[in-house]
Amino acid sequence: MPQPIKTTCPYCGVGCGVLASVDPAGEVTIKGDPEHPANFGRLCSKGAALADTLSTEGRLLYPEVEGTAHSWDNALDYTAQQLNSIIAEHGPNAVAFYVSGQLLTEDYYVANKLMKGFIGSANIDTNSRLCMSSAVAAQKRAFGADSVPCAYEDLEQAELITLVGSNTAWCHPVLYQRIAKARKNNSNLRVIVIDPRKTATCDIADLHLPVSPGSDNYLFNGLLAYLDKNHYRDQTFIDNSTEGLDAALTAAHAQVPDLLTVATKCGLSQDLVEQFFQLFASTVRSVTVFSQGINQWSYGTDKGNSIINCHLLTGRIGQPGMGPFSFTGQPNAMGGREVGGLANQLAAHMNLNDAQHRALVKTFWQAPVIAKDEGLKAVEMFDAMAAGQIKAIWIMATNPAVSMPNADKVRAALAKCDLVIVSDCMRETDTSRYAHVLFPARTWGERDGTVTNSERRISRQRAFLPTSGVAQPDWWIISQLAQRMGYGDGFSYEEPADIFKEHAALSAYNNNGERDFNLAGLNELDATEYEQLAPVQWPVMEQGQGTVRLFADGKFFTPSGKAQFIAVAEHAPANAVDEAYPLVLNSGRVRDQWHTMTRTGKSARLSGHIYEPFVTLHPQDAMQNDIVEGSLVKVSSQWGEIIVRARVSAEQQIGSVFIPMHWNDQYASKSYVDALVNPAVDPISGQPEFKHTPVRAEPYQANWYGFLLTRRRLPLKTASYWSCSRGEQLWRYEIAGEATPDNWAETARGLLCQTADKVEWIEYHDRAVNRYRAARMENDQLESCIFIGPDYALPERDWLASLFTEKELQEQDRRNILSGKPASGQHDVGRTVCACFGVGKNVLIDKIQQHGLATAEAVGEMLRAGTNCGSCVPEIKALIAETLNGQDKLNVVMENA
Ligand code: SF4
Repeated sequence: MPQPIKTTCPYCGVGCGVLASVDPAGEVTIKGDPEHPANFGRLCSKGAALADTLSTEGRLLYPEVEGTAHSWDNALDYTAQQLNSIIAEHGPNAVAFYVSGQLLTEDYYVANKLMKGFIGSANIDTNSRLCMSSAVAAQKRAFGADSVPCAYEDLEQAELITLVGSNTAWCHPVLYQRIAKARKNNSNLRVIVIDPRKTATCDIADLHLPVSPGSDNYLFNGLLAYLDKNHYRDQTFIDNSTEGLDAALTAAHAQVPDLLTVATKCGLSQDLVEQFFQLFASTVRSVTVFSQGINQWSYGTDKGNSIINCHLLTGRIGQPGMGPFSFTGQPNAMGGREVGGLANQLAAHMNLNDAQHRALVKTFWQAPVIAKDEGLKAVEMFDAMAAGQIKAIWIMATNPAVSMPNADKVRAALAKCDLVIVSDCMRETDTSRYAHVLFPARTWGERDGTVTNSERRISRQRAFLPTSGVAQPDWWIISQLAQRMGYGDGFSYEEPADIFKEHAALSAYNNNGERDFNLAGLNELDATEYEQLAPVQWPVMEQGQGTVRLFADGKFFTPSGKAQFIAVAEHAPANAVDEAYPLVLNSGRVRDQWHTMTRTGKSARLSGHIYEPFVTLHPQDAMQNDIVEGSLVKVSSQWGEIIVRARVSAEQQIGSVFIPMHWNDQYASKSYVDALVNPAVDPISGQPEFKHTPVRAEPYQANWYGFLLTRRRLPLKTASYWSCSRGEQLWRYEIAGEATPDNWAETARGLLCQTADKVEWIEYHDRAVNRYRAARMENDQLESCIFIGPDYALPERDWLASLFTEKELQEQDRRNILSGKPASGQHDVGRTVCACFGVGKNVLIDKIQQHGLATAEAVGEMLRAGTNCGSCVPEIKALIAETLNGQDKLNVVMENA
């Protein structure tokens, strides 16, 4: 076996190191890199399943123009000519790039350079706008630059970790594992979770504060007032290193003068608030992690500053084990910020509204122009397209038809846009259907470059697979297009190393220590050194020497060199609930899926955990709305409606619902949550308010319900509702319909039949109650089965699904197929809980019962479940509690992200 290739996981902002090995037969093995400082060998369930996602199935392999395959030359020439004529007729601001935290830094750098320095517009924005731009804005206001002060090792050195608006267990699983281990090793370490929902992360929490949605700013303003009142100040730090304290304190004291006010505004008991405040006040080594639950609000920037204020007052920043720590969502959200991927930034953390910075970048690039004004942020960009002002858009490595708020309006805007260019690795996405031009991009495993994770650590992504079709790296596609648009000199790159060197050199150009982002130590890398670049945290002033944490010297990047307290005003969500829309919608991730599922949806083991889009409701809300567990629910808002499956859980707050963000038209009929999400944005950061949309939920009444298991993907025209997911050697469909077919036997044959030599049908039909079941056998294997009934109470799917892995069906199984249950004595393993070892829920329950397994460790010893990535440990613990103690905890961990 050749030496494994060191690369970096393409999913979340933890940025785990991965070892990828390819055997002579082309089989890929993935392991965590024990030497990578982000993960030291660990991987979560998504990272561990990366090898399942590498097939070329569904890939975009060739350039296409208007649905026809073309050579690169033709497609690029055509697109360059189209862009140039739109710019000539309507000006540079009529074009826009919408890019992605999935791009590598080198791709991002070239895209930003083309738009801001050559086309001359700043209309380039990134999907990172949707996940962390409020954290960026808060850091810029407080520190004078988008600087994350902390490092992951601070999590091990802290004695208090407060996780705010972050379901770390599911969204940053390896950091959760590091925190869980640190807590085991250090009896002084306390963990506090602040989240409206009781998520899987609460498994390691000493304290959970289930705040009312959106009230975190009151909590942290209250903490600031409490710290001030009780003299928890670092006066030396305040005097030497900060400004603006008085205004911040005045605002905080006026808003939340005492514990009772804080408790009332946050929906908490006074006792809980006091416990948190006392713990924070008395623990010097204190890290506050914040993520999308803080950022995705129309006042997310202020929320971020309310957290940073508390660290500035206590001087808890820049030293080991302390600081405000923004966890980024995507693998290269930070790399994008470094090169100016946001519409309001220039490259290398320079500012568009600074004339000196503009001149510096223009000179360095030898650019013909430089954008003067801030460009359109994501929501504004699609609004401008809807209004006909944006005539051409180039979308790279992202899927805005699914992921933007008010997604149906975004789809309508794309449909009327004159020129939609999409660079993607996948042929069919909800966005690609609007494309006039499709460029096939290389994907993880095929591409080379760098990414930066949440702790400012730059790591290499390296290629270990051959290219699919004629796919090219994004930087190559952009450079080729730029050359054809007439900007050849600035885009003659041959390798990603050329771009990285230029990027590093720009960061150091006339820097003089005034800008936080500085790669002076890397701007002379040769190709070999770039190839061998070890993970390193910026700033890097000398090769091989990064910077663990920032602000150790109490100096910041504001004009005065002092950090700024921000007076945080009172805020309420942009749209209040009312009689028509009485519930608050919160959207987020589930454990085993990533973004719009283009990669993770290919993995049967990842899809086995949660295979259908759902809404979680509190039992009281469910009862009030006549919704029961497992039924279908229509959820609607002012902006749209979707249909999803009901999950009823006491862990959901009364009055609020949760729906995951991943599902889209490739996996369900209409379940993309962003059709519902309101388009309100934070006025400073432009980040949308994904965490608060008023909705209503009501039963979706179909005339029939059912499911289909089949070895092939199917077009489902007869179903009003469908969702599909991949299983081992099958596709699983959940379906429901309003119009009942006249003849189910005919309909089933129309859906499932393919000509084959030996086709056999087993069928049962009770017309009186509209119940139909059939199985189609082919060559002694189960080829497909369909179960239809008058309601959603249908047999479990797991045993039936397991029959698809049988080479030859046993007679006993064949006899039981239409009952949907195994013969007594046979086992139904149940829904997947441990994705790494494929351990099902029923197996876990049986073993816990039979052997009295009272700890996750005991379960791990017997079944291996939970012993690899550990992502399922909270769920195993909940199963133990439910099975041995009768506690209904399972739902706690099912829905939360
Ligand atoms: S935590 Fe999981 S998804 Fe995130 S980078 Fe690590 S392996 Fe990838």
